Amino acid sequence: CGVFGIWALGQSEEAANFTYLGLHALQHRGQEAAGIVSTDGTTLHAHREMGHVADIFNAEVLGRLKGGAAIGHVRYSTAGASHVRNAQPIAVQYAGGAVAVAHNGNLVNAEELRAELEQSGSIFQTTSDTEVVVHLMARARSAGSAPADPVDRLVAEARAALARVAGAYSILFLSQQAIVGARDPLGFRPLVIGKLKGSWVLASETTALDLIEAEYVREVEPGELVVLDGKGLRSEPLFPGQARPERQGRCVFEHIYFARPDSVLFGRSVYSVRHALGRELATSHPVPADLVIPVPDSGVPAAIGYAEESGIPFATGLVRSHYVGRTFIEPQQSIRHFGVKLKLNALKDVLRGKRVVVVDDSVVRGTTSRKIVKMIRDAGASEVHLRISSPPTAWPCYYGMDTPTRQELIASTHSVEEIAKYVTADSLGYLTLEGLYRAVGESRQGYCDACFSGDYLVQFPRQREPRGAG
Ligand code: 5GP
Ligand code: SF4
Ligand code: MG
Repeated sequence: CGVFGIWALGQSEEAANFTYLGLHALQHRGQEAAGIVSTDGTTLHAHREMGHVADIFNAEVLGRLKGGAAIGHVRYSTAGASHVRNAQPIAVQYAGGAVAVAHNGNLVNAEELRAELEQSGSIFQTTSDTEVVVHLMARARSAGSAPADPVDRLVAEARAALARVAGAYSILFLSQQAIVGARDPLGFRPLVIGKLKGSWVLASETTALDLIEAEYVREVEPGELVVLDGKGLRSEPLFPGQARPERQGRCVFEHIYFARPDSVLFGRSVYSVRHALGRELATSHPVPADLVIPVPDSGVPAAIGYAEESGIPFATGLVRSHYVGRTFIEPQQSIRHFGVKLKLNALKDVLRGKRVVVVDDSVVRGTTSRKIVKMIRDAGASEVHLRISSPPTAWPCYYGMDTPTRQELIASTHSVEEIAKYVTADSLGYLTLEGLYRAVGESRQGYCDACFSGDYLVQFPRQREPRGAG
């Protein structure tokens, strides 16, 4: 998922418009549903719908989302069904207050907390893991000893709720008085701070700041809480007194695939990282060939890096339809199946008689890769060498990426040779973990790579399949 928030109350009446633009730039992070909740300082105004940002929000809808502050969300389901009920921001009224919440990540103990809350009388409106957070906030308020100041109260309640959840969250809270943003102590999902004239902005990725011409200030740190209100921006530790964990959990797969290449992620340019991944791949898995072609769009920067390092010419061998979204974000298996042909077509003139290196970011089930290899061969390529700009994906993600079950991940049950055979490639090469971090340019200490290594940094209560909110 993607989140965006802007606090410009008293300075601008355009908060919903800026949020619309921000969400548009974050559309790649979730294409199932989107929503905006704004405030004029008195009331919260909400609109949520299934579909793409550009189709949901028109001038009339945006006109109703009044006020100088807003948060927004684009959703792709990892927890809870693909249904408008589960669209975010969630907005609720409780004990004299109103709050809206937008969450990117996945809470690993949401089911346990939900069962506990239901036992003591909570009635849940959605099947999304995020809803437990608002219930926990309401409990914190009814438990008493709440600060009198409404901003302090929002901070205290957000903190109390987040202290009980485990897993991945980059999360925004909006009340009539403030926006509170927080990132879990391991920092799985990104969150950045921007400045737009005199106002403050929070967004999943810097590409959203670029679009609205906001200046990128810095990341929200893992385990940091920030408050945006009439007084500006201030920062606090999310859990004061808690030591910084030795290893942090920035999602390395954001660099490999999920984030937009024009974003600065965890302080590094995504494009440069992907380019370096491709160079690393050329060094570790060279092969005599006539052309290097990417699987668009995600394979493009790595293919350029591979071509530069190997000296083999880069070419466009696959053309992508821009009217199809990201196929893996499409939850229906039947549509996913058609997705490949709907999305990609091979260029016969380019490929005929050529030995081709094909660069992609990851192999998940292997079904897409198999169809792509077949498509390239059918177009006349004499050899097809598949190069993957990540290590084998052998473990499911529990922290906000919608990977399939362990059994469905081809690399969990097959060797590289077996995968090469399955996808019918003449050869197949992956990166190693060491090669991955050489390209990222950072030590493994700051990152999560559980989907490649099986080193889960936050334990989940029961061994179960991940269905967690992208
Ligand atoms: P596959 O060969 O595994 O079917 O598909 C590989 C390609 O599709 C890669 O380009 C990868 O980015 C994308 N992909 C397909 N399914 C998934 C999925 O479930 N999760 C992720 N993260 N990517 C997927
Ligand atoms: Fe990212 Fe993989 Fe870790 Fe999930 S398991 S947070 S996809 S690196
Ligand atoms: Mg891809």
